[in-house]
Amino acid sequence: MKFVYDFTEGNKDLKDLLGGKGANLAEMTNLGLPVPPGFTITTEACKVYLESGEEPAALRDEVSAHLDALEQRMGKKLGQADDPLLVSVRSGAKFSMPGMMDTVLNIGLSDKSVQGLAKQAGDDRFAWDSYRRLIQMFGKTVLGVDGELFEDALEAAKAAKKVTVDTELEAADLKKLVTKFKKIVKTEAGRDFPQDPREQMDLAIHAVFDSWNTDRAKLYRRQERIPHDLGTAVNVCSMVFGNLGPDSGTGVAFTRDPASGHQGVYGDYLQNAQGEDVVAGIRNTVPLAELEQIDKKSYDQLMQIMETLENHYKDLCDIEFTIERGVLWMLQTRVGKRTAGAAFRIATQLVDQGLIDEAEALTRVNGAQLAQLMFPRFDESAKVETVGRGIAASPGAAVGKAVFDSYTAVKWSRSGEKVILIRRETNPDDLDGMIAAEGILTSRGGKTSHAAVVARGMGKTCVCGAEELEVDTKRRRMTVPGGHVVEEGDVVSIDGSTGKVYLGEVPVVPSPVVEYFEGRMHAGAEDADELVEAVHRIMAFADRKRRLRVRANADNAEDALRARRFGAQGIGLCRTEHMFLGDRRELVERLILADTQAEREESLKELLPLQKQDFVQLFESMDGLPVTVRLLDPPLHEFLPDITELSVRVALAESRQEPHENELRLLQAVHRLHEQNPMLGLRGVRLGLVIPGLFTMQVRAIAEAAAERKAAKGDPRAEIMIPLVGTVQELEIVREEADQVIAEVEAASGTQLKLSIGTMIELPRAALTAGQIAEAAQFFSFGTNDLTQTVWGFSRDDVEASFFTAYLEKGIFGVSPFETIDKDGVGSLVKLAAKAGRETRPDLKLGVCGEHGGDPESVHFFHEVGLDYVSCSPFRIPVARLEAGRAAV
Ligand code: PEP
Ligand code: MG
Repeated sequence: MKFVYDFTEGNKDLKDLLGGKGANLAEMTNLGLPVPPGFTITTEACKVYLESGEEPAALRDEVSAHLDALEQRMGKKLGQADDPLLVSVRSGAKFSMPGMMDTVLNIGLSDKSVQGLAKQAGDDRFAWDSYRRLIQMFGKTVLGVDGELFEDALEAAKAAKKVTVDTELEAADLKKLVTKFKKIVKTEAGRDFPQDPREQMDLAIHAVFDSWNTDRAKLYRRQERIPHDLGTAVNVCSMVFGNLGPDSGTGVAFTRDPASGHQGVYGDYLQNAQGEDVVAGIRNTVPLAELEQIDKKSYDQLMQIMETLENHYKDLCDIEFTIERGVLWMLQTRVGKRTAGAAFRIATQLVDQGLIDEAEALTRVNGAQLAQLMFPRFDESAKVETVGRGIAASPGAAVGKAVFDSYTAVKWSRSGEKVILIRRETNPDDLDGMIAAEGILTSRGGKTSHAAVVARGMGKTCVCGAEELEVDTKRRRMTVPGGHVVEEGDVVSIDGSTGKVYLGEVPVVPSPVVEYFEGRMHAGAEDADELVEAVHRIMAFADRKRRLRVRANADNAEDALRARRFGAQGIGLCRTEHMFLGDRRELVERLILADTQAEREESLKELLPLQKQDFVQLFESMDGLPVTVRLLDPPLHEFLPDITELSVRVALAESRQEPHENELRLLQAVHRLHEQNPMLGLRGVRLGLVIPGLFTMQVRAIAEAAAERKAAKGDPRAEIMIPLVGTVQELEIVREEADQVIAEVEAASGTQLKLSIGTMIELPRAALTAGQIAEAAQFFSFGTNDLTQTVWGFSRDDVEASFFTAYLEKGIFGVSPFETIDKDGVGSLVKLAAKAGRETRPDLKLGVCGEHGGDPESVHFFHEVGLDYVSCSPFRIPVARLEAGRAAV
């Protein structure tokens, strides 16, 4: 196996092997763009290292061969005393993990070569500054020395010199600092800073490998659902310097605005700076457009390169570049992160430009982004006090109490408070707090600062670089223009779409995208219209492409009508138990507790017209579309009084010697029906079989409602669904009774109702005997909530709050199986049952109505296994439509 690739050997499609950065450096190299030469060590090498603790045997020689070639090309050797080749060693995983892993710059500098660099560059200060940066970065990331010790020493040097910024330190000061830094390394790491450049390089490579498994990298991967076993590649790249004076600099740029998608010049530039200074948001940058004044030649070249990249990748790219004494170098490019709104706009813009087609456009957006666009926004008309404006870094409307450190953010959010994390700037150590917060506000840094990049990735509201806000994290307060002080705990609101910061709580209004789906979108803000237009077009692409139909889980006409507006093609699950709550609960209670047939019939007679009316409304709202009505499912105790409360009532009545026969009778019945495991007890079809008349009453209500709708010239398409079936015999008994009732109603009304009867597949036994069950079922609907519960043996009501966090932390699964279908376990039962069912009955209709029906990843799975439809809650319908379209690309 080959472990090292020269930049000239790779290409953008080798991200698995070379990581995103390495693959794209190779792609740019092959496009003839100015990339400093270098090579990439593969993720395979990293995996071997992480598994065995040692690098693969062949790696050393391969690295030597590539280093030789690089040295020949550059005409100098790594760390060569009189003219050193210096390299950067950078991590680069398949998926971008901004700031999560390690990078070491300036490798190759030593006590000797620093002199050579000074001579070659004609700049002592630069050489010593580069050397102190190397020791600092190397000490911290490779040797594990506490970074603050270096920071403190740097501060002390500035204080001694009575200057405030490090650029004011001179060569002699930096030289002294190097001595100090080396001492720190010796004391803290118990070894000298290595003078051998190859040793520096090898140790840095190992450190990058190791950084794959730091806590913060693991946390980030879990958040972003990036698999833990991918490993990182390592890029060894010859150094170019942006800190060689005012004709040098470094910057980041986007080929389009990542917030709006508009074309133009977007980016930040920092003169006389090196590497990470821009991303880290350490010094304030200037807008990229100003580079035109600073260095027109490089600016023009950069614009041209950006155009080349966009046309080549056919997408928004972000880039990092450095200018070394007027010569432009490309250090990185990738298809750039963008806001959800921009993703939709860019996809349609690229279609209009003829760069991509409709199918490709669908791959450029996703359901999570659409869901984000459906979040509410601030009410612009509300009387509010704007106290600052920063950069709109990640959209959304966030309201919460101001906190100034991650620890408090986590602590307060755990106790149920909504918080806004306010920092001068964030760094990877703030990740926990950023996750806990509703939104993030910083006073420094641009669109590419750590806060902005990470928040966008998490879909979290972020305003950054709000410079007029004075953030004092030590005193936990922020001073706004005019002198008002926001203390920890004061409520603030931030708008990640406009960058505005408000004092107090700003009311929120629905998103224009929801208004559009609801059919209420008026010509509003220009910005909103453009977005709605893009969403509208992408939804049309998806609807044209998808094979899966999308239905709604809805139990009343209001939800059904909304679902229809959102594009539902029927109801996949009407949970009839929801119709028995409130006033009707007592009727059901009486039915359950009835001792005699007469009592039972009395309750059923009262329930029948109520149920029928429910269905009439539902069929009317979904006229012409299928409506799957599920007969009563939940455990009985949900309809009975709470056992403890009732016991107390009885005991009290007893002690007061008050009459309490009824209560006592009720209590005895509740005791009789009490179950240890109600979820596995008397529910679903079992209820229908042991409570005579219950299911037939429901079937009659459905049939009569359908007949009434027909008489009113409607087009009812009811499907009757039996829950929790484990064996075909259960279904056969219920069917026989149901068929009889339907025949009676048909005879009485003189109409053919064409009702179909099917079942849920939500028990492993049902899935395993699906071939038999299909004999008695015209359709299957997979109840993946219960199926997940019973396949895993996880109580669906308990586990997520109890041990799932630990499971997620331990990486047992990356996401709860109740959220995204467990393809290997639950999913294989779905696959098996679908196949067996269709073998028995080729026209068997197949759907899913568990929560997974609206989950993007699961929708793709259901498409693949050949289901006919997914059913989900009304608000998730647009997401399901989009993902069903994406699945079919
Ligand atoms: C299911 O189990 O997936 C289902 C849809 O039914 P319920 O959630 O009502 O049990
Ligand atoms: Mg169920």
